[in-house]
Amino acid sequence: MDFVSICSKCGLNNDSGICVGCGSNHTPINIHQQLHKVVEMLIKMGVGVIGSDVQLYTSHNSSISIYLAAAVPEHLFNGLPSSWELQYYDLKSIGAKVYQLCCYPENDDNTYSIDNMINNLECWLKDKDPDGFKSMLRLAEYDVGI
Ligand SMILES: [Zn+2]
Repeated sequence: MDFVSICSKCGLNNDSGICVGCGSNHTPINIHQQLHKVVEMLIKMGVGVIGSDVQLYTSHNSSISIYLAAAVPEHLFNGLPSSWELQYYDLKSIGAKVYQLCCYPENDDNTYSIDNMINNLECWLKDKDPDGFKSMLRLAEYDVGI
């Protein structure tokens, strides 16, 4: 599966250097191509994203992960589409905390489930007003950190 490099500030494709979209010179993030749209939406809502991944398995449930820069206020993510959840955990082996928005689709028909799950999240995000969401993040003292 393919990855694309995008600007962590505005979500535009950006391989390196100064972003033509917003002028940011942050290091671009690598995003799974299928997740580009949802990641871009999250970024526009003010959520810091540091990467994403899609793992296909046939022996157990596949996984879709969107890695977040910091813990987001959970109440703002109430009512996520089914199978999507926020997960926070300590990766003790490397002493890092992992924050992710993730989903483990059934493995009956991987491609179909994955597209479906991503679509559901996209619809859910589409209902949010990006500026309103950003203000609520600010009120909750959320720090994007990137
Ligand atoms: Zn940009």
